[in-house]
Amino acid sequence: MPKKRKSGGKPASHKGQSSTVQCANCGRFVPRSKAKQYTKNVSLVDSRIYKELRDAGAIIQRPSQRAYYCISCAIHKHKISQRAKSTRKT
Ligand SMILES: [Zn+2]
Repeated sequence: MPKKRKSGGKPASHKGQSSTVQCANCGRFVPRSKAKQYTKNVSLVDSRIYKELRDAGAIIQRPSQRAYYCISCAIHKHKISQRAKSTRKT
C-alpha cells in the first residue's frame, strides 16, 4: 500500500516508536511526536478579582497547563492550518 507521506506525518522520523499521549479533545491516543502540544496559562482567580489583587500588590501565580491535540482536532480547533496543495510537503 502506498504511503500518504514519506515521514508518516511526524517531524522527526527514523527515531523508532515514541510514547503515546491522549488528545485533550477527543481522547484518541496519538504518538507524542505526531501530536501537537499546546501550553496555556490558567488563572486561578476570576479576572476582575485578579486585577484588584494585582493593583493591591499581590503576586498571583498563573500555572501553565499542557495539552496535546491529535492532528484532526488541531485542524478543527484552528491550532494549525492545512497547507495549500502546491506547498504541501511530501
Ligand atoms: Zn483529537
